[in-house]
Amino acid sequence: MPKSKPYDYLIVGTGLFGSVFAYLAKQKGKKCLLVDKRSHTGGNIYCENINSINVHKYGAHIFHTSNKEVWHFVNSFVEFNNYINSPLAYYKGKLYNLPFNMNTFNRLWGVNTPAEAKQKLEEQRGKYATIKEPANLEEQALKLCGEDIYYTFIKEYTEKQWGRSAIELPAFIIRRVPFRFTYNNNYFNDIYQGIPIGGFNRLTEGLLEDIEVRLNTNYLDNKEYFDSLAHKTIFTGCIDEYFGLEYGKLEYRGLHFEHEQIDIEDFQGNAVVNYNERSVPYTRIIEHKHFEFGTQPTTVVTREYPGEYAKNNEPYYPVNDNRNTVIYNKYKEKALQYPHLYFGGRLGQYAYFDMDDSVEQAMLLAKKELDYE
Ligand code: FAD
Ligand code: UDP
Repeated sequence: MPKSKPYDYLIVGTGLFGSVFAYLAKQKGKKCLLVDKRSHTGGNIYCENINSINVHKYGAHIFHTSNKEVWHFVNSFVEFNNYINSPLAYYKGKLYNLPFNMNTFNRLWGVNTPAEAKQKLEEQRGKYATIKEPANLEEQALKLCGEDIYYTFIKEYTEKQWGRSAIELPAFIIRRVPFRFTYNNNYFNDIYQGIPIGGFNRLTEGLLEDIEVRLNTNYLDNKEYFDSLAHKTIFTGCIDEYFGLEYGKLEYRGLHFEHEQIDIEDFQGNAVVNYNERSVPYTRIIEHKHFEFGTQPTTVVTREYPGEYAKNNEPYYPVNDNRNTVIYNKYKEKALQYPHLYFGGRLGQYAYFDMDDSVEQAMLLAKKELDYE
């Protein structure tokens, strides 16, 4: 490798993928420069401290994983509390427990035992049992949960969240939400779960300690200059934007967050309440203090409004339908022509990654690149 460049890696994006890779590269003696177009590090896990409350500026983030290596890795930077996500669903004046479990079935149908719930469910989903391979989210949801649950909790929420009909969405999206016959409101099936004690920024700060970062810097505005600084580039922004939309625009779902400080101790008694009916314009209200069992005298809540992704906003969710997958595969194929360039993370890999997936993917790349065992 020629010695003329000051950095081994230029890493575009200080989200989890970029920060984990930078940390692992530094451990192997590599010199990294990170740039981020935002004014802070951490990407979507960034929190802002308001009245001693860690406010999740880009929506509710709960760390959960079944990957022991990932869990031990993040715990080496920050300790996690024992928060278990147990959101509620508000529909037409009533609150229900999520994910779909005996508490939900009891409130919806008055059934008390798993046997009663299963019988009710058989009536509800019987006519969809013949669907072998659900072709879309609607078919998947009806086959799994039947009509009452689909029409109360899923259809309106999903169509509001994604801005398109449930028959245009991939089936895997609804399989993210557990469905069980026990009285267990844990939203995740993973073995490990929690919120970093002191907030998510502590994780990012630990990962990026003593590594050079330039904020408010859009790599694409000055690509040639930044490429000249390093031997290799890791790009964690949108892969279609990197290639100048050559094969067409990938679709992303946007969000808009409205944060409000309220002079009361407790607004809703829970960290997350979903608003499942279409007529309410937001999908969720987050009350941040509950992620850390806060006892502050006031509170901060955030309403999460879904919307179209526009240039002056962030691309929050990849839309992994068939049309976008075809386009993404063209970009992925093209990327293989550049041996000194890697794409990673939710936007670089155009995948509905949770935090643990981004950490795992960065670790995988580090293993390949940096001779980790
Ligand atoms: P990002 O965090 O998106 O980081 C990419 C970074 O690249 C950004 O900082 C961006 O500014 C920067 N960038 C992009 N383009 C450029 C450019 N041209 N120049 C310079 N910088 C650039 N996961 C969970 O595990 N649990 C949850 O509860 C959870 N909740 C979520 C809620 C919401 C509303 C959203 C949107 C996501 C949620 N996630 C959750 C997913 C989680 O946010 C991601 O998996 C993770 O943060 C992705 O990290 P990343 O590094 O891949 O991407
Ligand atoms: N979903 C729903 N009703 C709910 C919660 C989730 O229909 O009350 C559907 C919706 O399509 C959503 C998907 O399940 O996009 C995945 O939900 P999750 O809570 O994992 O979404 P995220 O937190 O990633 O936005």
